[in-house]
Amino acid sequence: MRHSLSNRDHHAIWHPYTQHKNARPPIAIAKGKGALLYDESGKSYIDAISSWWVTIHGHGHPYIARRIYEQAKKLEHVIFAGFTHEPAVQLAERLLPILPGKLSKIFYSDNGSTAVEVAIKMAIQFWKNQRTFTTLKGQKRRRVLALRHSYHGDTFGSMSISEKGIFIKPFKDYLFNVDFIEAPTPQNIEEILRFIDSVGSQTACFIYEPLLQAAGGMNLIDPLSLDRLLTKIKSKNIICIADEVMTGFYRTGKFFASDYLVQKPDIICLSKGLTGGTMALGITAATEQIFEAFCSDDQWKTFFHGHSFTANPIACTASLASLDLIDTEKSPAKVARIEDRHRDFLSLVKNKKLKFRNARQLGTVLAFETTAKKGGYLAGEGKVINRRALERGIFLRPLGNTVYLMPPYCITDRQLNRIYAFLEEL
Ligand SMILES: *Cc1c(COP(=O)(O)O)cnc(C)c1O
Repeated sequence: MRHSLSNRDHHAIWHPYTQHKNARPPIAIAKGKGALLYDESGKSYIDAISSWWVTIHGHGHPYIARRIYEQAKKLEHVIFAGFTHEPAVQLAERLLPILPGKLSKIFYSDNGSTAVEVAIKMAIQFWKNQRTFTTLKGQKRRRVLALRHSYHGDTFGSMSISEKGIFIKPFKDYLFNVDFIEAPTPQNIEEILRFIDSVGSQTACFIYEPLLQAAGGMNLIDPLSLDRLLTKIKSKNIICIADEVMTGFYRTGKFFASDYLVQKPDIICLSKGLTGGTMALGITAATEQIFEAFCSDDQWKTFFHGHSFTANPIACTASLASLDLIDTEKSPAKVARIEDRHRDFLSLVKNKKLKFRNARQLGTVLAFETTAKKGGYLAGEGKVINRRALERGIFLRPLGNTVYLMPPYCITDRQLNRIYAFLEEL
C-alpha cells in the first residue's frame, strides 16, 4: 500500500475544501461509468451528487470522449483574441436561441467563478461606459445587490457577492461592499420592494441564483416572489444577472431555472453541466444593449478581460457533444423520471414519519435537514453520513446537516432505490 495513489497523494497534494490535519485519505478513483465511480480496488460508488454538481450524462460517456479526442487532434487550443474557431462559434450559435431572455453575445471563460466575475465586471463597466456616468439623481450607480445565503464562487469578486459564511471569513476585510437582501417570500416581499425603491437608482446590478440557492443550503426560492422582485428591480434599470452555473441544463427540471420565471436576466452565467461535466468552461452571456455599451472609438470602453484558455476548443466541443446528448438521450424525460422518483420517495417519507426536516425537491435535486441540533456547514453529522454512505457504495456529501441528492441524469431506478433505502435508515 505504500505506493498507493492515496499514499502518493498524501505527500504531494493540497485538496479543495479539505482540513488536511484530520481528513481521511482521499479515495483514489480509477474510472467512472454512467452514475458509478470505481476506486483502485474495483469497489463502486453511486455518484449521487454528480461530482460536485457537474456530471449530467454520466461518467466516461463514449460520445463526448470521441468528440473530445477528434477535436484534440484537429485543434487543441488557440488564443481567442484576434482568432476564432468553429467550436466556439457553433456553441454560441446553438446556445443563444435557447437561453432565457434576449441574450445576444457569449463571452467565454473557464469556470463558474470566472463566469460570475465577468458578469459583475460587465455590469459595473456598463455604467461607467455610459456617457453621463451618473443617474438622473446625480448619483453614481455604485451599489451591488445580492441575496443572503447566496454562493457565487471562490474568487474575490464572487466572494464579495456571496454570503459571508465560514468559507469567506478570513478574507472579509478585503471584499467590496454589497447590499444583501433576504430571498423573497410572500411574507417579506413588500419590505424588500421598499428597500429597492430606496437604493434602486444607485444600484448597478443584482445577482441571483434563480429558484435554488445550492451551496447556501439547497434553499428553494418562491418563483412568484422572485418574479415580483425582478419586476421591481428591472423597473429601476438595474442589470439582472442570473447565476445559472449550477441550475442550467435541466438540473432543475427545465432547460434553465429562469425558464420558470417571467422576468428574464440581462446577463446569465453558465458552467458546471455546460460541458456535460467533462471539461472546465464558463460562459457569460449578455444582451445586445450591454454589449453595445462597450463598442466605441474610445479605447477605454473596451472590456479588458480574458483568460489563457478562453473558449478552449476542446471544452467547447465537449459542450456541443453534451447538447447533442440532451436531445439524443432525451435528458428532459430522464430528469422528469428522477423528479417523479424523488416525489414518490418524499411522500413515503411523510407516510413513514421519518425524521427529515424541511424535505424539498426541484428537478433532480432532493434535500432535507437531519434532526441534528447543531447546524451549519461544520455540523458533524454530515461527515458521519458521508462515511456511512461510502461504506454502502454511495457517494453523498452533505452540506453540514443538509443532506441532498443531485444525481446524473443517467442514474438507474435501481441505483436510486439503493440511495433511498440508505436515506430511510438515517
Ligand atoms: C459552483 C458555483 C459557482 C462557482 O463555480 P466554480 O466552477 O466552482 O468556480 C458559482 N455559482 C454557483 C451558483 C455555483 O453553484
